[in-house]
Amino acid sequence: MANKRIYLKPRKEQSLLRFHPWVFSGAVAKADTGVENGELVDVYSSEGEFLARGHYQAGSIMVRLLTFEDEEIGADFWLKKLSQAFELRHKLGLIDNLSTNCYRLVHGEGDYLPGLIVDIYDSVAVMQTHSAGMYSCRAQIANALVELYGRSLAVYSKATQIGTFEGDDDYLHNSAPNFDVVSENGCKFLVDWHKGQKTGFFLDQRDNRELVSSYSNRRRVLNLFCYTGGFTIYALRGGAICADSVDSSKYAIELVRKNLELNNYSSAEFFNRTICADAIEFLRGVKKGEYDLMIVDPPAFAKHLSAKSNALRAYQRLNALAIEKVAKGGMIFTFSCSQVVDKHDFALAIFSAAAQTGRNVRIIERLSQPADHPVSIYHPEGEYLKGLALYVE
Ligand code: SAH
Repeated sequence: MANKRIYLKPRKEQSLLRFHPWVFSGAVAKADTGVENGELVDVYSSEGEFLARGHYQAGSIMVRLLTFEDEEIGADFWLKKLSQAFELRHKLGLIDNLSTNCYRLVHGEGDYLPGLIVDIYDSVAVMQTHSAGMYSCRAQIANALVELYGRSLAVYSKATQIGTFEGDDDYLHNSAPNFDVVSENGCKFLVDWHKGQKTGFFLDQRDNRELVSSYSNRRRVLNLFCYTGGFTIYALRGGAICADSVDSSKYAIELVRKNLELNNYSSAEFFNRTICADAIEFLRGVKKGEYDLMIVDPPAFAKHLSAKSNALRAYQRLNALAIEKVAKGGMIFTFSCSQVVDKHDFALAIFSAAAQTGRNVRIIERLSQPADHPVSIYHPEGEYLKGLALYVE
């Protein structure tokens, strides 16, 4: 049966001709009657020319595009797309890598698959679908993953909330315990894809963790918003005198303790504190000069454009406090993962924070997301993680 059709307004096909993966509702002139959320639709120009095919969803992003060709979205399509994603990770040196067995295989629009995230944790693929259409393709995607990685792969799909619709958590192929120990640059981490945040681990900070490690020798480190302690373990591996970890999630802090044990940093000779607290409250109580290196990696403060100015003020407040407290000659690795806050906005918030403290602050590194979180040149919105390494006098 032919797909239903969406017709664009005159001249609204330009972004599609440049492979932008979304159709905004404002560009749509009309849709066939009865189109339902998650359904595959064909997008046509006002002149009646076929442009692209994708998943329909009522809302500001009305169609998430899967292809700009007239091809069937079936088993062959999924295998082709996942093979292309695999090929890139292979070129990045992430496949059969002895020190790193966790990486992102599919990064939504960055792998031309809007609404789909697939993270690999050794022999388990954890999938998150962010649209009703992707959710409905889970079984086909799982089949393609098994074809690519072999029958021993377990495929887990994380619950998805899309508007009022809530999907289930389940194994789509094989089953496994809901957690495993993975290795990232030789550091070991317990990842729980069942109860953990996102797919279980923040793979997007891998390169930044490595960088922090290289600056940590003989430093007293404070890891704020630490989640399961990624930066903490790397800082200790890099020779930190101590690394304290703060997160408001009790479960995350439990996992930090386990990760310290796993990496042999929990014996009596170490004084690494694990603190379940609000990061700002904790920071207020820190004595000036108590830490030489701080990591400030809060959750997204703004999920929508409307929240942007509040988010910028929150980044400013938080970072002003960190800049005020860090030791003389200290460093701060500060991040934002809010998609609506771009790197210029973020730098401006940090500038305001520094100015507020009156301390001399220099930018020594500009930070971003790693290569397995690629950004389509046609979809710059995909560059969501930004950070600055600051040197504070
Ligand atoms: N840096 C981490 C990822 C941080 S994600 C890593 O490399 O893995 C953001 C974390 O902030 C989450 O673990 C969340 O539980 C925590 N969080 C959210 N609000 C917080 C608050 N007010 N105080 C402390 N932690 C908070």
